[in-house]
Amino acid sequence: MNLFNVYPLYDITPVKALDCTITDNNGVEYLDLYGGHGVISIGHTQPDYVSKLKNQLDNLGFYSNAIQNPLQVELAEKLGKLSGLEDYELFLCSSGAEANENALKLASFHNGKSRVIAFHNSFHGRTSAAVAVTDNKKIVAPINAQQVVTFLPLNAIELVEAELEKGDVSSVIIEGIQGVGGLDEGTTEFFQALEKACEKHGAVLILDEVQSGYGRSGKFFAYQHHNIKADIISVAKGMGNGFPVGAILISPEFEASFGLLGTTFGGSHLSCAAGIAVLDVMEKLKLQDNVNEVSAYFFEQIKQVPQIIKVKGRGLMLGVEFDFEIGALRKKLIVEKHIFTGSANNKNLLRILPSLTVKKSDIDTFIVALKESLAELGH
Ligand code: PLP
Repeated sequence: MNLFNVYPLYDITPVKALDCTITDNNGVEYLDLYGGHGVISIGHTQPDYVSKLKNQLDNLGFYSNAIQNPLQVELAEKLGKLSGLEDYELFLCSSGAEANENALKLASFHNGKSRVIAFHNSFHGRTSAAVAVTDNKKIVAPINAQQVVTFLPLNAIELVEAELEKGDVSSVIIEGIQGVGGLDEGTTEFFQALEKACEKHGAVLILDEVQSGYGRSGKFFAYQHHNIKADIISVAKGMGNGFPVGAILISPEFEASFGLLGTTFGGSHLSCAAGIAVLDVMEKLKLQDNVNEVSAYFFEQIKQVPQIIKVKGRGLMLGVEFDFEIGALRKKLIVEKHIFTGSANNKNLLRILPSLTVKKSDIDTFIVALKESLAELGH
């Protein structure tokens, strides 16, 4: 059987990794500044994480959600404490798309409406709100015909209000910072007006923190930079450091009932062990402080590269924009300089989403390689 060929692949085969270093099958080492789309949060094969997972696997990897699982309670308590959202409740699942589907569904159950508002250039996974509008013109129909999604420009509060006035909007879903779309972000004024408008019209405000969450932006959640309250927050990616863990955090206004939401794999013993290990390591290594320190260093040092027209993002969710497409640059960085970075729908943007353990010396290595690569490519 062949693989269904949906991913263009670089000719590199990683076989081992430690923290921000990946080693391929020829023994070549790479600096990982991308973490597989921001999934690696506490570093590859972090020792506390590995031993917690091994130990859990030796005891009990999985049983269904129909039995008591104290690890879910432990994960919920730790997440409440670290995020500052102790009064929220946790529903566990296995991916970002599943988290967002549950968020959209829960909103509909709550207010009996079904229309969703999302924003241009957003990405919410392969869900009913799946469409990443790449050029602000092309609106592709949602894949789930039952869920009508209206896409609006980011920061256009009057347009959001006009849609909410119609009375049929169940939820508004927005990323704390846009990931795949290219690191645009709502203004604080917009987020605050959005919160008020949703409250006024009984629409649920869903913050998609699948990529921008878990400490990456410099606060636990990126929306917390704007001093607002979210009704539902979706998380995944960094939550399990590579083990598939996703969740929604649900504010106290929602009432649970048996059978309202459900999943087979979400909340398994092994996935909870991964989730707990990530939070324990974040606390033990004070990774939030590291994010802020290394981020400030990055913003300072990147000024050495005059070809960059804009630095986007916050914390360690970063992008550098050029006035040319970055395909060749990214390839050179990987193949010749042995540094992993990422691309975006904005073809001129190079994305940097390292582990939250990344060091200033790694930033130095990147900047040297970036300068060399730009010169070699004649920019
Ligand atoms: N939401 C955001 C903001 C994302 O960036 C992604 C993935 O890139 C998703 C949702 C979907 O997550 P998953 O691929 O785990 O389904």
